[in-house]
Formats: sequence, structure tokens, C-alpha cells
Amino acid sequence: MQAKLEFLGAAGNVTGSRHLLQANGNRILVDCGLYQERQLKIRNWDPFPVPPKTIDAVLLTHAHLDHCGLLPKLVRDGFKGRIYCTSATADLARIILFDSAKLQEEDAEFKRKRHQKEGRKGPYPEVPLYTVADTEACCPHFAPVEYKQPLKISEHIEATFCEAGHVLGSSIIKVKIDANGWSRTVLFSGDIGRPNRPIIHDPAYVDQADYILVESTYGDRLHEPHEDIKKIVTEAINSTKKAKGNIVVPSFALERSQDILYYINQLLLEGAIPPITVFLDSPMATSITKVFQKHAELFDEEMTELIRHKQSPFNFPGLKMIETTKESQAINSIKRTIMVIAGSGMCTGGRIKHHLVNNISRPESTIMFIGYQAVGTLGRQIVNGEKEVRIFGQKYPVKARVVQIQGFSAHADRDELLQWLSGLKKPPRKLFVVHGEPESAQHFADFIRAKTGWNVTVPAYQDQVVLD
Ligand SMILES: [Zn+2]
Repeated sequence: MQAKLEFLGAAGNVTGSRHLLQANGNRILVDCGLYQERQLKIRNWDPFPVPPKTIDAVLLTHAHLDHCGLLPKLVRDGFKGRIYCTSATADLARIILFDSAKLQEEDAEFKRKRHQKEGRKGPYPEVPLYTVADTEACCPHFAPVEYKQPLKISEHIEATFCEAGHVLGSSIIKVKIDANGWSRTVLFSGDIGRPNRPIIHDPAYVDQADYILVESTYGDRLHEPHEDIKKIVTEAINSTKKAKGNIVVPSFALERSQDILYYINQLLLEGAIPPITVFLDSPMATSITKVFQKHAELFDEEMTELIRHKQSPFNFPGLKMIETTKESQAINSIKRTIMVIAGSGMCTGGRIKHHLVNNISRPESTIMFIGYQAVGTLGRQIVNGEKEVRIFGQKYPVKARVVQIQGFSAHADRDELLQWLSGLKKPPRKLFVVHGEPESAQHFADFIRAKTGWNVTVPAYQDQVVLD
């Protein structure tokens, strides 16, 4: 008996998580994510390395697009099995995949028109990678699983999902292959959260695994301590209110928006900030917040306490969830200090751009970044301190105060990853470092090897490894 692991994404890069496990005639895919790095996006269009109809099941760690974003294509191309994930992940993935499908359709149409005008052809076909209809066909494949309940995938394969502490419903997945007296466990970290994050539980420790795939997004870095977040947010709100400006927060719809609401609610309860009107101006973040409210069973103790005392961060006095464009535009006419949280998180599109237009040149306003800003985005230009930025084709001087908070990260840093791995009672046969920029993955592999003496490698795209 032998098993084989194939690295089909997030190997030598961050996005496109996809790992194929083959054992005893079964094929199991763990995650099926979209590539988001500009130079790797072309891989989204490649046919699957094995025919999708030969894959028995998908195990999905969580609802981020770089982990679930290719599922509609997998189903359209012939996958017939179940997509196992927690019920919260299924609810969130539906919202995220429909949004992605809409963007894919708009993107294809935009490219078709532009190429027609310019009389040229682009690197990708001018059809959507997948459509809203493909996504509708994908969703019935979701099959909910409970944390810590071993699930039989086939006669010889069992999977157990445990909390990953990364986003609501996120999982670490332990797969056990047991056949003819041969037994091995393979542990997929998915994305590992930081301990003591708001709302959700901490990552679960795992005490035994023969093979481990561990993420390394922040494998070469350490985060700011947690306490600083409250201090920075308090100072930003109080000083902006004094100056009679607004606080504009570019935010990702999943987890980050709910986290900032959690902190504001805390600061209001503690009396550290005065009552303030907070607009969550993102239909997607609003839908996602409703999924949070539906899954109160996944909240940690502090959050459960808040709910019990009717002090939920999702309906504190002053919080307004905006749906329509008209309501969003009406925010501009408010004269008193307000806070507005909107997408996209890196200011590349969405309603945040309108709020930036209205505030970026006002010295009394504050732009508060709570997420990573990738190279080449408007968000990155602002945090880099550029004096002038272009929004909707117009130049605006940057006069607002810019605040960046690093501590919101939903990923464990180097030492927190080591801490998570230290839950193992004996060394694994092999540790594979995935889901990181090449330097970060390599640094983390060297760090773990030096600390533990384990057999650690950084697999490359399409590497195949026999698990003996
Ligand atoms: Zn993630």
C-alpha cells in the first residue's frame, strides 16, 4: 500500500491552494483555489492535471477564494463527488463564489470589448473562467461536516476537520489512510490563524501526523502584539473626531470587517471612544456578517458572553449596514464625524474608491488600513506615502492621515506557526512547507529544520511525493 501526494497549487507561491492525495485507488483533492498572483493567473485556465470526474471527493479548508475559487470550474468540467466542509464554510463559499463568478463574467466582457477596440488578443480566452450558472451547479455539491467528527470518505480513508482559527468555519484537516495493516495520517494545515483573535476559536492543536502540509504566508515574519490594535484604533477615532474628519477603512468582506466591528464595539463598551456612526458599506460584508450571526455556535467564549449580554458587535448602537448605492452615496452628505468600512480591501474597486475621493484630500480625515496591501494596488500607493494618487482617472493629493495596522492578520506568524507545530508528540516523517512566497517558505523551512531537526521540504508546483 502506498499513497501519493501531488502539489497542484500554493507550492512556491501563496494562492491557488490545491493538493491531490491518491491512495488505494481513491483520489481526494484538498482545496481547489484560484490563482490570484498576476503572473500565475494563466494557470486558472489550464485543464485539471487529472480528469475531474476521476476525483472522488474534495475537502475544503475554508471559504477564501484562493482555496475555493476554482470549484465551479471543477464541477463544470466533470467532478461528480461531494465537497466536504463545515456548514459555515459552505455558507460563506456560496457568497464568495457567486461574487467571483459575477466578476469573471464582467471581466470577460470588458476584455472582449477592449481587445476588439484595440484589435488584439489577450493571454486568456475572452469568455468567463466560469459563470454564475456554473456556480449554481457547484453549490449542491457542498456537504457539511462537524468539527472533530471523523468522516468516512471511502472504505480506507477518513477525514477529521478541526478549528483553524483563521476565518469563520475554517479547518485544519487530518486525513487517515488505513488499509491492510498500513496506516498513515496526512495533516493539511489550510490557513492557520493567530491565537487570541476576536470572535472565533483558536487553532486546534494536533498531536500526531505522519505527513504535514503547513502554510507559510508569514513564515519569515512576526506580527505586532495584539494590544496595540485597540490603542491605535482608539487614537485614530478620537483624534479624527476632534479634527471633525471621517475615518475611512478599506476592508475585506470576510473576517476583517467583522473583526474591526468587534474592536469598535469593545472600545464603545469600555468608553474609550465616544458614540460614533459606523457604516458597513459593502453588500458582501453585510451578507457575510449575517452568516456570522447564523453560526453563533462557532464563537469563542468572549464573543458568546457578548451575545449573552446583548452586546453583539454586529448590532451596536450607531452601526448601519448599507445595501443600496443610493444609501451609500447619502453618506457623503453627513457633516459630523463618521466611520465607513467598505471594500475592496486594497482599494482596487468597489465603494471604497468613492469614500476615498471624498476624504483623501482632507487633512482632518483618516484612512485606516487593516489589511495587507499588495504591490501595484491603490492601497499600496497610499500606505507607501505617495503625495498624489489617481482615482477614477483623476488626480487627488493625499492629505488625509494614513494609519496602517498590521496586527489584524488572520495568519499565524513564524513563531505562532512553530507553536502550532509544537503540539505534535513525535516528529512527522516529513513536513512540506506550502502557501508562501518563495523567500518566506524557504526561511520557514530552514527555521523549523534548525529548531526541530525534522525532515522539511518546500515542494515545487506539480511535484509528486510518494508517502511510504
Ligand atoms: Zn485564507
